[in-house]
Amino acid sequence: AKSDGRSCFRFFDCGMDDQVVEAFRMKADLRTALQEGQLKLHYQPLANLTTGDIIGFEALLRWTHPELGQISPVTFIPLAEETGLIVPIGEWVIREACREAARWPNGLKIAVNLSPVQFTTGNIVEVVASALAWSGLEASRLDIEITEGVLVKDADGALRILNAFKALGVHISMDDFGTGYSSLSYFRQFPFDKVKIDQTFIRDMETNPQSRAIIRAIIGLAKGLDVEILAEGVETEMQIDMLKRKGCELIQGYAISRPAPIEQFDDIVGGRVDI
Ligand code: C2E
Ligand code: CA
Ligand code: CA
Ligand code: CA
Repeated sequence: AKSDGRSCFRFFDCGMDDQVVEAFRMKADLRTALQEGQLKLHYQPLANLTTGDIIGFEALLRWTHPELGQISPVTFIPLAEETGLIVPIGEWVIREACREAARWPNGLKIAVNLSPVQFTTGNIVEVVASALAWSGLEASRLDIEITEGVLVKDADGALRILNAFKALGVHISMDDFGTGYSSLSYFRQFPFDKVKIDQTFIRDMETNPQSRAIIRAIIGLAKGLDVEILAEGVETEMQIDMLKRKGCELIQGYAISRPAPIEQFDDIVGGRVDI
């Protein structure tokens, strides 16, 4: 927590106090962050493990606060969800990501994260449909990433929305798979195109046989169901080799590239013209 010059007394849990005050302040400041241009998207490549080709990018939200500096989405997304601000912010993310990706060549795909709150507030299907129409992006190049939280809360509502996405031609990825309530029956119930193996399994796969067994099981399941598999958080050559041997198709992680402003990937998305 940043110090703002207040003194701390020993009866006071200053650390906790700071956190509460800071969260309160961030919630207030998040209201204007969008209008003031403090939010930006960074992009992280998704790569084909066999050919090494970049097949697309995941859009990841960044907030530069005028005084606090860079704030992680791990911190501010939950605040945006609590305040409902994730709805307008999430809508901006979809439009901005579609606008950007519409300029890319070779059918490069764009993956966008949706919060469970966006499933229960506002008309998310309309938002996606109008972003596609407005940007001219082909629906099949948009990949919507959802977490299990969406399915657990209201399975029927989620299914209706996911089916509407499929009807638009948009692809759906199950993010962070293997954490939370992961249930195999999700695959029968919901129309996924891709499963992203959570990075906690990749992180310790070199040393933890349990993680390797889970990765193997998820890959086997996905292959049997004709669902694409992507391993997240891949950082080392060793992890790449192991994933290749296990038949994983796609990877994302620092081993390929960290998320960065799109300008950094001009050699891949090149030929784009800004208006
Ligand atoms: P996520 O969707 O699971 O995104 C992947 C996260 O892993 C990103 O963190 C990315 O920077 C990080 N990452 C990628 N490769 C590696 C690696 O090799 N090693 C390590 N240690 N980390 C890696 P980031 O950008 O901080 O985002 C955190 C989370 O915030 C995301 O997790 C997602 O849940 C949420 N988020 C980010 N942008 C958005 C957004 O536009 N909308 C919503 N609803 N959530 C978002
Ligand atoms: Ca994601
Ligand atoms: Ca993830
Ligand atoms: Ca995550």
